[in-house]
Amino acid sequence: MGRIKLLDRPTADKIAAGEVVERPLSVVKELLENSIDAGADFIEIEIRDGGVGLIRIKDNGCGMDGEDLQLAFERHATSKIQQIQDIYQLETFGFRGEALPSIAAVAQVEMLSSSAGEDVGHKIRFSGGVFEGLEEVAAPHGTVIEVRNLFYNLPARRKFLKSNSTEVGLIGELVNKYALGYPEIRFKLIANGQIQLDTAGLLTTEERLVNLYGSNIEKLIVPLQRREIGAGQYLEAWLIREEMTRNNRNQEIFFVNGRLIKSAELTQALEEGYYTLIAKGRFPIALVKLQLPGQDLDVNVHPAKTEIKINRFDLLQPKLVEQFKDALWEASITKNAFLPPDQVVGWQPPKAEQTEKKVETKEKIITQKEIVPEIKKEQVKQEKLFTLPAVAEQTVQEEAISYQGPLFTEKQAAIKQEIKKSETPKQEWKVTVKELEDITLLGQLNNSFIIAQNKQGLLIIDQHTCHERILYERFMAEENNKASLTEGLLIPVTVHLTPQQDSVLIKHIFTLRNLGFVVENFGERCYLIRSIPFGLQAEEIENFFIDLLDDLGRSKNVSQATLKEKILITASCKGAVKANWKLNEQEMLTLLHDLAQVENAHTCPHGRPIIYQISMTELYKIFKRGSYQGEK
Ligand code: ADP
Ligand code: MG
Repeated sequence: MGRIKLLDRPTADKIAAGEVVERPLSVVKELLENSIDAGADFIEIEIRDGGVGLIRIKDNGCGMDGEDLQLAFERHATSKIQQIQDIYQLETFGFRGEALPSIAAVAQVEMLSSSAGEDVGHKIRFSGGVFEGLEEVAAPHGTVIEVRNLFYNLPARRKFLKSNSTEVGLIGELVNKYALGYPEIRFKLIANGQIQLDTAGLLTTEERLVNLYGSNIEKLIVPLQRREIGAGQYLEAWLIREEMTRNNRNQEIFFVNGRLIKSAELTQALEEGYYTLIAKGRFPIALVKLQLPGQDLDVNVHPAKTEIKINRFDLLQPKLVEQFKDALWEASITKNAFLPPDQVVGWQPPKAEQTEKKVETKEKIITQKEIVPEIKKEQVKQEKLFTLPAVAEQTVQEEAISYQGPLFTEKQAAIKQEIKKSETPKQEWKVTVKELEDITLLGQLNNSFIIAQNKQGLLIIDQHTCHERILYERFMAEENNKASLTEGLLIPVTVHLTPQQDSVLIKHIFTLRNLGFVVENFGERCYLIRSIPFGLQAEEIENFFIDLLDDLGRSKNVSQATLKEKILITASCKGAVKANWKLNEQEMLTLLHDLAQVENAHTCPHGRPIIYQISMTELYKIFKRGSYQGEK
């Protein structure tokens, strides 16, 4: 008896607060949503010390009278629903009536509000959940809330907060996403006295996309005008074409019924729309707005309301994918009409009888011929595949010329030249790669694999991972002998950063400089990259640099050595021959020869295998020839 006690109100609030108020970012999200719910068209967010010191949000929305202001801080007090059915018809973000009391429980809060029908405003104060007073004050219509010393009464929680710069970055990203979702609202974000964002004068989604991602994005925007895709279901989207991608899903932005949410289902549908356009491990940049009937949604699955469940998503999914696919493919086809055939997305090397392969889009059938210039048949190099390496020496020159042919881009030709430049075997027919003796070449499979043999059996070598490993070790070796590995760019590359990336860059600018990136500020969240680490291909710089910043932002303690390695790995990957590249015998022999020199011939720097071996013993087994007795 007597062991069970009711918690006092501040303690209960503190516990409940844990669910809604995880960190400064979640406070900003709740308050921002309240301001949007209040119908504001100007919201100013000010933060200090990563939001722990101060979060101040000012809006020109409907405001509250004194009575409501007091009620707003009662748990389960909300103006947004009255009964449980209402949550199925929600038009607003809030409905739990939990945010304000939760925030007030773990900080010092002052809220000042004045509604349109009143002559005076009111100010209310709480500290650690304890009411400290309500007074009349003069105030313009709208609401200002100040949250100070977040978690001052929860030291354990405070200790686990991320660094201030991380939090500022994340808050900046959140505000930017809302700014994209609500082009009719002006958002202003001030962090530690500096204006990080002000969308004044940016009145369309397109203008705001450019503001956030830089002017390069403008021509890549594929807009989907608002359309009904099912009964009461509306879709509107801005998809960014596959030329600009990211290495994480952070820029896949979804608004459902006006709230910024995460949804594994929507993510999947979006990525399926981009399927085959974007390489594995890369993710699109896209803003997707969905309006669904209230009963289609279960918004109540997550206290912070960041995750939602869509009922009967299986019916919605194919419609979404179709919309995304059609829009992207249409954009892609118009663009590709001007590209050399091997760069056309989805292009397959033609088989003789297949030059009129049909590409189907929604209503129209377009023949491959219309899209791309006629493709010359297999390269002339075919017959040289099995010439002897002894004479190959002299064919190198001819080969170099034939690479300029239509099937090869300049970049491919350059990479092929690189293979040639490297030491070529003279009379050696056989190479010995670690643990694999006397390898001889048989040919190339599917323009992607080198087929070779030795006494033990058949060897299948992935030409890309093989070359990647060779380049990686070469770069590493050069790296160790060189103090600086910077390569100046003739034309500097402009990059436009999100607030989060910006704060990461500022934090790591010296590390990046040591790695070879010379970066110069060029306006708000905009930089010029003047020099890059040696070996990185210039055309990929922007994406690579942003990926690097995202990696830096995500991981806690990345050492310079780790980053350096990452740069070398990328440089090797970019520089290596790809799958679907035809290699001649000389090139294949060179690759094998170089592979014989590397330390680790088994995996590429990403850890993918290089060689697959099928032993004679296995072959005998497969073909039921009894056991292999060795060479006769
Ligand atoms: P919820 O948003 O779930 O209703 P909150 O605790 O966030 O719960 O807010 C409680 C109530 O306070 C809201 O329902 C709304 O009526 C009022 N409110 C909160 N913020 C504002 C604001 N910025 N402007 C006008 N009213 C507000
Ligand atoms: Mg709310």
